Amino acid sequence: MSVKYKRILLKLSGEQLAGEYESGIDPKLATWLAKEIKTISQSGCEVVIMVGGGNFVRGAQIAGHGIKRVTGDHMGMLGTMINALALTDIFEANKVKTRCLTNIFAQQVAEPFVHRLAIKHLQKGRVVIIGGGIGRPYLTTDTAAVSLALELGCDAVLKATKVDGVYDKDPTKHKDAKRHERLAFQHAVENKDIMIMDKAAMGLAMEHGMSIIVFDALKPGNIHSVVEGKNIGTTIA
Ligand code: UDP
Repeated sequence: MSVKYKRILLKLSGEQLAGEYESGIDPKLATWLAKEIKTISQSGCEVVIMVGGGNFVRGAQIAGHGIKRVTGDHMGMLGTMINALALTDIFEANKVKTRCLTNIFAQQVAEPFVHRLAIKHLQKGRVVIIGGGIGRPYLTTDTAAVSLALELGCDAVLKATKVDGVYDKDPTKHKDAKRHERLAFQHAVENKDIMIMDKAAMGLAMEHGMSIIVFDALKPGNIHSVVEGKNIGTTIA
């Protein structure tokens, strides 16, 4: 397989990792994902994975009744750590060389995120899974994904979603809805109906010219196809 992208950052939400469950992690899905990622790694594409934590806690949602927003965000970041640890073990169990790096102080459970260390792991062909988002409250793992993709020199952010791209109108309501193959950042940032990713994340990507590919990652072969450069989702650039 010839790859278009040599280094990618895949952003997975907590909801996706929960698979058929309401919360927590679906081990069958994680095992399937490990196999998909294995073929990508073997084809010479270096992989960074940023995991969300919405299957456990989202700070903005849990804040209240005495729980401060900052505490809620800390809880959310811990949720992402749980996902990162589980995914790392499941990947390793499926013979995918993987390292879990954390952006919060959790040295007993994972290696601290250090730029040079992350690059070294990637150069050695290891998948790098990042827990703890970017380690600060009032942010989400979408913004963390773009920031880390920039820091680690990734060619694109692959934003996994339930839908297979961005449409001109709601595809569940309109039969004639058309998927955009490409979308300009300006349009994606300004259009309030496009809620596929945080506006803060898109703003950061726009400022630094980091392409975002929105696609359905949980369909067999789709991550592969994106890495090969096939137009199966929507590229925001
Ligand atoms: N979070 C944070 N800083 C970060 C990343 C995440 O405070 O850099 C918190 C925030 O509360 C967020 C939660 O962790 O809602 C879980 O992340 P996210 O909502 O991005 O998860 P997803 O929706 O992708 O599953």
